[in-house]
Amino acid sequence: MGKKGFLEKYHEKRDFDISSEPFGDEKHKKDSEKQIFVIQKHDASRLHFDFRLLVDGVLKSWAVPKGPSTDPDEKRLAVPTEDHPVEYADFEGVIPEDQYGGGTVMVWDAGTYENDKKDDDGNLIPMEEQLKNGHSTFILNGKKLKGGYTLIRTSKGDDEKWFLKKVKDEEADARRNPVNTENKSVLTGRTMKQIEKEGNKK
Ligand code: MN
Repeated sequence: MGKKGFLEKYHEKRDFDISSEPFGDEKHKKDSEKQIFVIQKHDASRLHFDFRLLVDGVLKSWAVPKGPSTDPDEKRLAVPTEDHPVEYADFEGVIPEDQYGGGTVMVWDAGTYENDKKDDDGNLIPMEEQLKNGHSTFILNGKKLKGGYTLIRTSKGDDEKWFLKKVKDEEADARRNPVNTENKSVLTGRTMKQIEKEGNKK
């Protein structure tokens, strides 16, 4: 077990003798300086997309039922989930059916991101602070998704909800629908069916 609080909810939900998901190594909390993001397509009891941003050494996570859009007029519901270890960004495979989140996981998009929210004096607001305040803006540099995105919290407490929305910029495109048309892993080029058949990435 990591120290109290660090990935506690993530560890509680899983049996690492059965699931091949990464346990997560505490040392990354300090080592992780590169800002990465990952979006995992997850065919669990309900298909959804898990949107994760590396902030302060852990992957801050939201489940986005419809997946991200490239249309700046589309808000996508994003329900926060527990922090995941940075190693999870490379996880692609099958979680056993009787386990938490049982089902197929694909690395649907991945890359780096840049903080893009400044205060009135023009200084970047740390991502931790943006998320605490419930309004975060960043620029994705993925293979499928690029440009500005914003995450906005709309309710707090047990029923905490956010939405994920494309910023209007040169990468915005209302006609693209990558969630439906770009169906392969950016990690292995596999489809969900292939991952389901073959399991974890080789
Ligand atoms: Mn999920």
